[in-house]
Amino acid sequence: MQLIDTHCHLNFDAFDEDRDAAIARAAEAGISRILIPATDMQTCDQGIALASEHAGIWAAVGIHPNSSADLEPRFIEALQEKALHAKVIAIGEIGLDYHWDTSPKAAQRRAFEAQLELARMLELPVIIHNREATDDVLEILERWVQTLPASIKERPGVLHSFSASPEAAERALRAGFYLGFTGPITFKNADELRYIAARAPIERILVETDSPYLTPAPHRGKRNEPAYVRLVAERLAALRQIPIEAMAAQTTLNAETLFRFSFG
Ligand SMILES: [Zn+2]
Repeated sequence: MQLIDTHCHLNFDAFDEDRDAAIARAAEAGISRILIPATDMQTCDQGIALASEHAGIWAAVGIHPNSSADLEPRFIEALQEKALHAKVIAIGEIGLDYHWDTSPKAAQRRAFEAQLELARMLELPVIIHNREATDDVLEILERWVQTLPASIKERPGVLHSFSASPEAAERALRAGFYLGFTGPITFKNADELRYIAARAPIERILVETDSPYLTPAPHRGKRNEPAYVRLVAERLAALRQIPIEAMAAQTTLNAETLFRFSFG
């Protein structure tokens, strides 16, 4: 059985003590591929470095909304250059976050739209972060997909760690997006999320950990790590009443369709 952790911040300090061991535990649990999203310029480089060192690791480049204040005017050129690396397979994580006010809304929006434009130009899918900004995120994405060439229209991106309403899920799916599910589908108070996960088209769902955050039950409270993506897949399989092997095969195929893991 094979699984892909499509969203794992393996570069973060939380893994400094045992990064190689965490990668080994993941491989042992059948997690053969890991995608590391970036949050700022420095984490772009960290993700690319890890992807260069490990055959089973890939990277995305992008600026998280919480890091989008005070960007240098030429940040898009800098990102474009990083995106040329053979193992960069997406732009992200990008989006809007109205929960924290580390970056003004206008700055977040400018950075988000500029990076969507870059993704369109490079024909790369996007990894979307949305926190308390669902309407604005969907409005921007719905407009953006209209501008996409055929090569990328069928695989525009993923709403990572999806946590909005069933109506928002429907809008995202209609626009062609995938939904990424994480540890919260195992949490007690997540019935609405499980309702969405049980009904979304099976060819549009991805599993991710968002490590070191969002640790699934029964490890909740501890640091998350890529091996635990299996717990997310197991819960999804139970919800959809299919064997874990079938869920692993389907979500792996979905991730391959969206991200086209290149060799580099
Ligand atoms: Zn993340």
